[in-house]
Amino acid sequence: MSDVLEVLNPATEETVATIPAATRDDVDAAVARAAAAQRRWAAAAPADRARLLRRFAAVVDGHIEELALLEVREAGHTIGNARWEAGNVRDLLDFAAGGVERLSGRQIPVAGGIDVTFLEPLGVIGVIAPWNFPMPIAAWGLAPALAAGNAVILKPAETTPLTALRLAELALEAGIPEYLFQVLPGRGTVAGDALVEHPGVAKIVFTGSTRVGKQIMAKCADRVKRVTLELGGKSPNIVFADADLEAAAAAAPMAFLDNTGQDCCARTRILVQRSAYDRFLELLAPGIESVVVGDPADEKTQMGPLISRAQLERVRSYVTDDLTAVRGRAPEGPGFWYPPTLVTDAGPTAPVATEEVFGPVAVVLPFEDEEDAVRLANATEYGLSGSLWTRDIGRALRVSRAVAAGNLSVNSHSSVRYSTPFGGYKQSGLGRELGPDALTAFTETKNVFISTEA
Ligand code: NAD
Repeated sequence: MSDVLEVLNPATEETVATIPAATRDDVDAAVARAAAAQRRWAAAAPADRARLLRRFAAVVDGHIEELALLEVREAGHTIGNARWEAGNVRDLLDFAAGGVERLSGRQIPVAGGIDVTFLEPLGVIGVIAPWNFPMPIAAWGLAPALAAGNAVILKPAETTPLTALRLAELALEAGIPEYLFQVLPGRGTVAGDALVEHPGVAKIVFTGSTRVGKQIMAKCADRVKRVTLELGGKSPNIVFADADLEAAAAAAPMAFLDNTGQDCCARTRILVQRSAYDRFLELLAPGIESVVVGDPADEKTQMGPLISRAQLERVRSYVTDDLTAVRGRAPEGPGFWYPPTLVTDAGPTAPVATEEVFGPVAVVLPFEDEEDAVRLANATEYGLSGSLWTRDIGRALRVSRAVAAGNLSVNSHSSVRYSTPFGGYKQSGLGRELGPDALTAFTETKNVFISTEA
């Protein structure tokens, strides 16, 4: 019998859809079709490519509510978040469309002629997306890759293929040429692996676990295949005693609970200067206990379920009985529910304090001074994001520069904007996505010298 993916509603455990899983043969056929479509696309006038991408953005804009509701059903995201996610796809397409006609090479002064560089498309790009932000992360690869003249084959996560499939339909509706953007729902170890191994795929853009990211990087090394990796995180939220403690405490809960903590940027290590520790915990605890957890389709809900039973078991395994925690509430009954949880007595080397839990769980740890804060913040194999709260601008800059992470925010928890670069230090990843250079990551630079003396 052929393999199928069963998509469950994580809030109810009901089956939402059953989708045939792509095989290795499906990947071969998709790559051949993509290669032909890419050659035509790269040869089209830049202004026409930009216009089509803008039209794609407009069609997505007309389907925000439909896409958002699909994300609520397949991923359990709150409706407010899901609307933002669909809107982010639109914005990414618009932003990338603006880059098509600005993707210029350079003219470099040399003797005996002129020297110019061209930014040429790579060819067929494989985007392997995770389940935690199925739409935005797919579009982080898709939009700039298409804009730079490539074709894209997207393999969504096993649990969340539906919005990806719908986006492919909307692309065709917008007039994006057939086979330029294909979606292959399938298993990581089958369709994902086939994309990684395929000689016709020029680059892999992967977001997911550090474990799988390392395997993909090793396989790409065999062919010197280009690869961008967005992996895990264990990001610090550093609160200095001189900060606006009320504001820092008000923001801290959703900084690790948003998307039920299934966010590689989740600020799951709350580091608080010892002199303000007790006061900060007093301010923070009610904010965790009062988070509204429940039906993700309800506008008032702040936190929905985890994605799957496997993820629920994984999260549970980190919060062992010997730990003390401040807890919020979660629904009983069907669905993959876990309450907001702040562990208050884990040591800095406990698994819950060092590993990516990917659920609504954070730890709080004291530090003594600035040096100690930076040491604790950097005591991790990860380096994706982080926040720091202080009223001292010199300290804000010093600590931002000293924390080894790709995305820092001061007196806020912002980290992802389509117009600013995003990516990790250390084992959080390789390469950058988004921002002014997003398209360049999907090109090769070719240098051409033309003699004026012949
Ligand atoms: P995963 O890394 O297994 O899956 C991510 C994507 O990679 C999926 O599309 C999957 O099908 C694909 N994949 C899996 N194995 C593959 C392979 N061998 N070759 C090619 N593609 C492959 O992540 P997961 O198992 O869904 O989640 C496990 C943990 O990973 C989570 O608990 C979390 O800690 C972490 N995670 C991090 C992110 C992130 O954004 N950093 C996203 C998802 C998961």
